[in-house]
Amino acid sequence: MSDLPLPPATDFIREAINEDLASGRFDRVHTRFPPEPNGYLHIGHAKSICLNFGLAQAYGGKFNLRYDDTNPSKEEMEYVDSIKEDVRWLGGDWEDRELYASDYFEQLYEWAELLVRKGLAYVCDLSADEVREYRGTLIEPGRESPFRTRPAEENLDLLRRMRAGEFPDGSRTLRARIDMAHPNLNMRDPVLYRILRATHHRTGDAWCIYPMYDYAHGQSDSIEGITHSICTLEFEVHRPLYEWLIQAIGIYAPRQIEFARLNLTYTMMSKRKLLQLVQEGVVRGWDDPRMPTICGLRRRGYTPTAIRDFCARIGVAKRDSVVDVALLEHCLREELNRTAPRVMAVLRPLKLVLDNYPDGQTEEFDVQVNPESPDAGTRRVPFSKVLYIEQDDFREVPPLKYWRLFPGNEVRLRSAYLVRCTEVVKDPASGEVIEVHGTIDPDSRGGNAPDGRKIKSTIHWVSAPHAADAEVRLYEHLFTTPDPSDVPEGSDWRANLNPASAEILTACKVEPGLARAAAGDRFQFERLGYFVVDPDAAPGRLVFNRSVTLRDTWARIEKSQQ
Ligand code: ATP
Ligand code: MG
Repeated sequence: MSDLPLPPATDFIREAINEDLASGRFDRVHTRFPPEPNGYLHIGHAKSICLNFGLAQAYGGKFNLRYDDTNPSKEEMEYVDSIKEDVRWLGGDWEDRELYASDYFEQLYEWAELLVRKGLAYVCDLSADEVREYRGTLIEPGRESPFRTRPAEENLDLLRRMRAGEFPDGSRTLRARIDMAHPNLNMRDPVLYRILRATHHRTGDAWCIYPMYDYAHGQSDSIEGITHSICTLEFEVHRPLYEWLIQAIGIYAPRQIEFARLNLTYTMMSKRKLLQLVQEGVVRGWDDPRMPTICGLRRRGYTPTAIRDFCARIGVAKRDSVVDVALLEHCLREELNRTAPRVMAVLRPLKLVLDNYPDGQTEEFDVQVNPESPDAGTRRVPFSKVLYIEQDDFREVPPLKYWRLFPGNEVRLRSAYLVRCTEVVKDPASGEVIEVHGTIDPDSRGGNAPDGRKIKSTIHWVSAPHAADAEVRLYEHLFTTPDPSDVPEGSDWRANLNPASAEILTACKVEPGLARAAAGDRFQFERLGYFVVDPDAAPGRLVFNRSVTLRDTWARIEKSQQ
């Protein structure tokens, strides 16, 4: 392979791979994505998927999906299925290699016996608390277990009886015999197997001992012939143990390379905490559009291309950092700007009556579907005497620099006519504005001033008798602070939850053409942002989620950095 042209080494991982191919350490590239099926995947996992699958693609290699399912008590089929769906949706292709660490349980156990026979592992009767106590600290060496010197024969007999179910849960463990004074705590005789009576989602009740993650992970990579085991930084300190185990057993050694995990501002990324949000009903479920999960982002209106683009832009690094969530939003906005049809929708309707427009008359305007992609053509938008406009686009008493509608002022009704406000109708009891009246300039059809007079503002509208009803859900960040884990003394991470992260508007009015929209369809609501039809929609019931606003905070950040 070294005589083949290699993809450019654009980051330290590709550099390492190119090095390995040039030196002949490997003659192929085989990566994997190894999720533990104990939750739904999030945007951090997307980074790992894009990275691992992207490398396999770039080098003409292979990519495995492997479930690291060594912990029966926390794993569920629901998670297994959702992971597959999400990896596939992102574009990851594992071909026929849907693999499970649990498929290797027998092999892993045989290797445990081998380690015992070699004198490299022993059965230890210390309790979990005692094991912890004996381990020592970063500045103090650990103490050796009194069971460390058991003869191999006795260890083998005990290990077999552990497997046979002769001992209660937690009463014994199998531990590697390495070095209780090792500066790396992971090397101080780590536990390899524990006794645990729990039903596993694949192996059922066949086992009452389960391998620890650290014992299963490296060997699973080895069994699968993975060349480059790409992990997040926290596994750097586990690498010596993985290498020790592979060498002790005497099997094929992949190369582990660590990279910094993705952190995002305003975003909680741990599966454990995301599970709490779901269980405590803070969100509606794993796929709540406010969640950083892949299924949540999907429901929010994110596309696989936008997420892949984001992962490509953030790249890989060796040091932990926090990415601005505005960049993720920017990637979606850029794509939807090119692809999303424009429509008009009024979220908080206010009636505008055009006094000089004939009763009962309707006309249709041809409006561009997407000015960014002329090929998308035009759509027909009906217009009539009574329109809905945004409450916010009218003020009885305009503040400074307010150019939208107010008594006496003239604005453009997008693609239709110029209108001048003539009258305000209020509820006599509450004083609330319930209707606005105006007159159009009949010579301004299409929205152009006949004499070229300057119109400072253009507002969107929907024809009242033609409008379709819709529910629109607006979202803000789930957390109020850029770093959600930065909490005041004495309170926990819930203190930073944003109580106003969802706003549901049920009386919205949209262009009639939207009545045929189906779940997953994406649109730009003019002046309001990008929206996607939620799966809660049904025939006759339109429900939209706002994916992102039009305000590109990332572009502003980039500009200020130049
Ligand atoms: P969490 O810490 O969110 O609970 P995890 O690391 O326990 O996640 P796994 O199922 O073990 O979840 O992760 C599968 C793979 O995804 C691992 O290789 C892990 O390194 C990677 N991964 C997890 N979180 C991130 C992240 N934030 N950024 C990049 N990769 C990640
Ligand atoms: Mg993990």
